[in-house]
Amino acid sequence: MKRFLQKKAFIVWAMLFFMTLTVLVPKIYGEENAESSTSEEANRKKVVYLTFDDGPSPNNTRKIIDVLNKEGVKATFFLIGQEAENRPHIVRDLVDNGMTVLPHSYSHKTNYIYKSSSNYISDYEKCKEVLEHIVRGPLPNYMRMPTGSYTPCCNKWVMQDIIKGLRSKDVSYIDWNVSTDDSLGKNVPVENLKNKFIKQAKDKDFIVVLMHDSYYCGTTVTYLPEMIKYLKDNGYEFKTINDMTPEDEAYMKNHRLINKTKKVK
Ligand SMILES: [Zn+2]
Repeated sequence: MKRFLQKKAFIVWAMLFFMTLTVLVPKIYGEENAESSTSEEANRKKVVYLTFDDGPSPNNTRKIIDVLNKEGVKATFFLIGQEAENRPHIVRDLVDNGMTVLPHSYSHKTNYIYKSSSNYISDYEKCKEVLEHIVRGPLPNYMRMPTGSYTPCCNKWVMQDIIKGLRSKDVSYIDWNVSTDDSLGKNVPVENLKNKFIKQAKDKDFIVVLMHDSYYCGTTVTYLPEMIKYLKDNGYEFKTINDMTPEDEAYMKNHRLINKTKKVK
C-alpha cells in the first residue's frame, strides 16, 4: 500500500513537473526571445552606406578609391553609362577595389529621360547593359534615379509610370537620407559640406549619404577622410549595396530609402 502510494505520488509529481515544463518553458523562452529582439533593435549597430553618383570622372573617382582604401571602407557608386564608356578602366578599378557599381542613368539628360517612362526605362537599361559589359557580369537589380525619386524634373504621372516600369522588372531604386549637397555648385567649400553632413547625420543611426565623384566635386575628396573619421568615431559600420542584409533592406523600405513613392493625388 505504502509502495503504491509512493508510486502514485511519483506519477502525480512527474505529471506536475512535465506540465510545468510545457507551460513555463515556452513562456520563458518566448520572453527571452522577445527581450532579445527588443534589445537587438536597441543594440542595432549604427550603419552607414556611402554613395557616390555621376562618375566615373577622370579626376576624382580614383582619388576617392584611394581615400576609401586608406580608411579601409567600401562605398557604392551609381554610374553614368556615357562616362563609364569613356573610362571603362576606372569602372573596373572600382570593382577590383571591392566597391559596388550600379546604374544611375546612361545620359543623365533629365529633360529627356523624365519626359516619358519609355525614355526613362530605355536609358536605364542602356546604362545597365554598358556597365554589365564593362564589369563582365550581371549587376544586382538596384539603381538610383537621377536627382532621386523625389525629383522636381519629372511630372508625377510620368514618375508613377516609371516606378511601375521599374518594379515590373523587379528593379529597386535607392534614395538617401543625408546629402552634402556637393553637386549644388562647383567645388562647394568643405565647411559647407561638413555643416550639411553633420546637421543631417547627427541624430541618425542608419545613414545613406549622397555624394558625387563627378568632375567639379574635388572638395568632396578633400572632406571625405574627415567624414569617415566622424562616422568611425561614432561607431558606424560601413556597408555597400552588395553587402546589404535583408534586415537592412527591410529597414530601408520601411524608412522610404528604397522604393519610396510620391503620393499621386
Ligand atoms: Zn546624378
